[in-house]
Amino acid sequence: MNKTIALIPGDGIGPEIVEQAVKVLNAIAKKFSHTFTYETVDMGGIAIDKWGEPLPKAMLEKCLASDSVLLGAVGGPQWDSMPGHLRPEKGLLALRSAMGLYCNLRPATLWPQLAAASPLKDISQGIDFVVVRELIGGIYFGSHTTELVEGQPVATDIMRYSESEIRRIGKIAFETARKRRKKVTSVDKANVLDTSRLWRKIMHELAQEYPDVEYSDMLVDNAAMQLVKAPHQFDVLVTENMFGDILSDEASMLTGSIGMIPSSSMGEGTRGLFEPIHGSAPDIAGKDLANPVGTILSAAMMLRYSFGMEQEATTIEQAVSTVLDKNFRTSDTMAEGCTQVSCSQMGDAIASACC
Ligand code: NAD
Repeated sequence: MNKTIALIPGDGIGPEIVEQAVKVLNAIAKKFSHTFTYETVDMGGIAIDKWGEPLPKAMLEKCLASDSVLLGAVGGPQWDSMPGHLRPEKGLLALRSAMGLYCNLRPATLWPQLAAASPLKDISQGIDFVVVRELIGGIYFGSHTTELVEGQPVATDIMRYSESEIRRIGKIAFETARKRRKKVTSVDKANVLDTSRLWRKIMHELAQEYPDVEYSDMLVDNAAMQLVKAPHQFDVLVTENMFGDILSDEASMLTGSIGMIPSSSMGEGTRGLFEPIHGSAPDIAGKDLANPVGTILSAAMMLRYSFGMEQEATTIEQAVSTVLDKNFRTSDTMAEGCTQVSCSQMGDAIASACC
């Protein structure tokens, strides 16, 4: 198969980790006789510096013309004081919106080899769930204003959800659960928010259409606690944009390191955006220290969900497992008796384990 992949290295550790994913994709292309053509896209801080905006139109068009998009991360302290429209993450929000990517899947799986890296004491029952996060609605996409009221600044952010936005993400959660352990937990704040009350009503309607799936509601504050107390109870967690953002970061840490977790963002078609869930980690950028596994596993998700390459995706996941079995670890997951490797050495090891 011939596929064009838009690559967005971005900022901070982004270029280092995307380079490792490309090594792995090239190994897969060779093994399975595919041709992957890469189009590099500037987005985020690098695009602000080079082009004066976080997602120039020509760059967005490259993404829309590709078969799928792989992203490292964007952002960094040097752009923190920029005005709102010139923030690196504006590029990412604009890209998600322009590609219609309303569904964000974030698996949280504990690799048995990394059990010691989990901060939880009792993980004997394992951790294996997926957060299905709504991605282009809610408070991140409502209007944001700051105005002077009676002499003092007052800030307002609008949170809005329509029935159709809730229903389409809900359906994905139930369909995902059908392929897993058939359990959906919907997370909201229905004791306070109108958006959550509508969310809950639609989820209950959907639950009637999926009688084979066990369904429950959970308030977001309780969900934050339950993730730490008994993470094994979850199979599919479905939630709105901001709650999903926060809970999936919490979930990632339970599995040992934020550097291990991939994500996919998809809309109606097969083209998606695949990225690790972490940010640009400015504290370790340029030091060849970052863990590239989240990005490499994101590339595996891209092969599976965008290109229908199941065997190729499994080959990458098995290669990661093989390398962890050899006790190779980047610094974030380093443990006694293991060999510490750099970001690029980890990429080399996984690429060669794919062959
Ligand atoms: P972060 O995820 O970049 O880093 C948090 C901590 O995790 C840091 O200590 C970092 O060193 C560590 N870490 C992250 N990824 C790692 C990896 N692959 N290997 C090893 N350690 C890793 O979050 P932050 O510090 O809050 O944000 C830094 C910048 O990233 C900010 O500008 C923020 O806006 C941006 N950000 C971007 C995205 C994105 O591009 N999708 C997501 C979150 C944050």
